[in-house]
Amino acid sequence: MGCSTAYFVKARAHGADICVIEPDPTYELASTLRASGGARVLFSCPENIEMSKWSIEFIRRFEATMAVGERHAPVGWVEGGYLFIVPPAGMSMLEANYETQRRHGCVVELLSPAQLKERFPSMRIDDLGGGVHSPRDGWCDPNGLLQGFRRKAQSLGVVFVQDRVTEIDIADTTVRTVRLNDGDSLGGSIFVNAAGAWAAEICKMAHMPLPVSPLRRFEHYFTCGNPLERLPYVKDLDRLAFRSEGKGYSGGLVDGNEQRGFNFDVDHGYFERAVWPALAHRFPPLESARCHRTWSGLYEQCELDGNPIIGNWRGHLENFFVIAGFSGHGMMHAPAAGRGLAELIVDGTFQTLDLSRLDYSRIERAEPYAERGIL
Ligand SMILES: Cc1cc2nc3c(=O)[nH]c(=O)nc-3n(C[C@H](O)[C@H](O)[C@H](O)COP(=O)(O)OP(=O)(O)OC[C@H]3O[C@@H](n4cnc5c(N)ncnc54)[C@H](O)[C@@H]3O)c2cc1C
Repeated sequence: MGCSTAYFVKARAHGADICVIEPDPTYELASTLRASGGARVLFSCPENIEMSKWSIEFIRRFEATMAVGERHAPVGWVEGGYLFIVPPAGMSMLEANYETQRRHGCVVELLSPAQLKERFPSMRIDDLGGGVHSPRDGWCDPNGLLQGFRRKAQSLGVVFVQDRVTEIDIADTTVRTVRLNDGDSLGGSIFVNAAGAWAAEICKMAHMPLPVSPLRRFEHYFTCGNPLERLPYVKDLDRLAFRSEGKGYSGGLVDGNEQRGFNFDVDHGYFERAVWPALAHRFPPLESARCHRTWSGLYEQCELDGNPIIGNWRGHLENFFVIAGFSGHGMMHAPAAGRGLAELIVDGTFQTLDLSRLDYSRIERAEPYAERGIL
């Protein structure tokens, strides 16, 4: 989010002096590097659908448009498609979302259990009501996306400072400076908090409540001895989600009840206990799945409604903008969200996509604006 916002602000306001403060240039713990790279239009909120549509097109062209001189910006986009599947009780929600997606011009197909079986013969369908397939969705390399934004922003003159924000100085409704771990201070006219799972810590320094918590999630790389047909990125209502990766698969099962906190410990029993039974149930050939690697990462979970917060705290902190709380969708939405925030900062209002329903005012009013269906 930080690199995307910096790039889009700089592209919009060439003369702006922009500095990105990042404590770890290896991004070891950053959520972005731990993401599985999925990008899809299968949402219910129009803002999320539109952000995905624009971001996917942007990612598709990223390698060339974000090249710096001769150096391309590869992101390994795979147009593998997405498939959401639901039990009969989930069909009315799935159909309503499908209609919304169609109204927004998305390429989506509603499939009956028999049609699912025809396309994906390994799938168990007797407990399913249907699915929605979006063949133009897919996945990419999150590290490539991050580094591409970073290098392009740097090439335009954005400066990266390796440090950590530790304090924020405020006068009236204006942030004046941020203090850094090494003792320096940085002044500016506009400040952006793009600290992902750490965003609430930064907001706290500015006395701004932000309902964004770190939620640990495991991702697994597994293989299967039995051959399977080519599968899209499959997701269900129990939050099982996986896609093909190399000779195997990458995926997991999100436990939304996981205790919040900065916990990166890996539970090596989780795959056997939670993921494997769900995989083997849905795709019986995956009974022989073998997990080779598990890693943990943090969702920056918006506890109000699972949707991002993009904007400032009007009337309180006019020049302090937040872009956080993407709750598992932040890689795919980074291009459109970064562009949206750049418009808000440079032009004063959203110009291309109206993201105002995602601004901070709903947090103040405690009025959730949530996704309906598969998260
Ligand atoms: C296992 C897993 C799978 C996922 N799969 C997907 C997926 O398929 N598709 C998708 O779209 N999203 C996915 N996500 C979500 C996605 O990774 C995040 O939404 C996204 O990466 C958030 O980006 P960000 O820039 O806000 O946060 P981050 O990438 O975490 O960046 C935040 C940065 O803030 C820095 N920071 C922290 N504290 C400070 C400080 N005090 N001062 C300065 N800087 C600071 C950190 O060092 C970090 O680099 C997944 C996440 C996980 C964990």
